Amino acid sequence: MKSEIAEKRLFNIKVCMKCNARNPWKGKSCRKCGYAGLRSKAKESRI
Ligand SMILES: [Zn+2]
Repeated sequence: MKSEIAEKRLFNIKVCMKCNARNPWKGKSCRKCGYAGLRSKAKESRI
């Protein structure tokens, strides 16, 4: 199922709360601006 794979990809993404750049799940800080405030994309899809 392609949709299943797409969902898993979304769950493995963190979004920077400062510049909204997408970062790898394992990343602790934004690779673009260095901001440490990363939120998981999964929480967003719940709403
Ligand atoms: Zn950032």
